[in-house]
Amino acid sequence: MATAVSDSSEPANRYRAAQLGLTRLLVRDVRGLRRLIIPSRLQQSVPDWLTAMQAIVEQYARTSSHLAAEFYDGRREAAGVPGVFTVPVADPPPPEQTESSLRWATKDLWPRDPEDERTTDAQRQPMDVRLAQAEKKAEQAAQKLVTDVGRGTVQEAVRQDRLATAWARSAALGACAFCKLLAARGAVYKQDTADFRAHDGCHCGVIPVFKGQQFELSPHAREWERIYREFAAPHSGDQLRRFRLALAEHDSNPLPGSN
Ligand SMILES: [Zn+2]
Repeated sequence: MATAVSDSSEPANRYRAAQLGLTRLLVRDVRGLRRLIIPSRLQQSVPDWLTAMQAIVEQYARTSSHLAAEFYDGRREAAGVPGVFTVPVADPPPPEQTESSLRWATKDLWPRDPEDERTTDAQRQPMDVRLAQAEKKAEQAAQKLVTDVGRGTVQEAVRQDRLATAWARSAALGACAFCKLLAARGAVYKQDTADFRAHDGCHCGVIPVFKGQQFELSPHAREWERIYREFAAPHSGDQLRRFRLALAEHDSNPLPGSN
């Protein structure tokens, strides 16, 4: 049975909504931990915060990979793919990876010598500004760690499932130019072994494509593809910037920043 699959469909959008709901809860919990960072006692309090954050990221990552596995199972069944396949549910990120992302997010909290020329503008800000920035970065880093586990689960399932042929990127109407550009490329076949490239705060999803299914770009991804082909592809250099400018002018539903 040949069915069509695209980067945007009712089930894909439902999965994205579930993933977004998970992100909102995650962000709420991350905000709740902010009080653990005590500016006058960074040395003692940041490690406590890191420990608490590890637990939160791990818990949400497990939910994220289970959501992804459920989505994959549902898509496989809807495609009429025969046989049983058990989705390899990805583990939460290793603690070292979470710690290094969160250390990066909070690096500007530490006191610097204002006279030192290596001290950046961000590091010269008052503590409350630096705390707010660290908080924002930590939220986004945690979101990426958690969402990546879900995306990784679908990608790994495609890799292992004999009857899966490819995956496609599903970007929201309000995604950034980088994500729209990649989504407009359509299905990535598993022999191409391309990795999913995501940035902090990226809510793009991974859609599996099964044997016998025809991949078609959604109408909005087709429009991004057309804009890219018309305004960026013919000119050499800085294609992403050209594409971004063209989107601002020609995308009929840009909803900027609304992932
Ligand atoms: Zn994205």
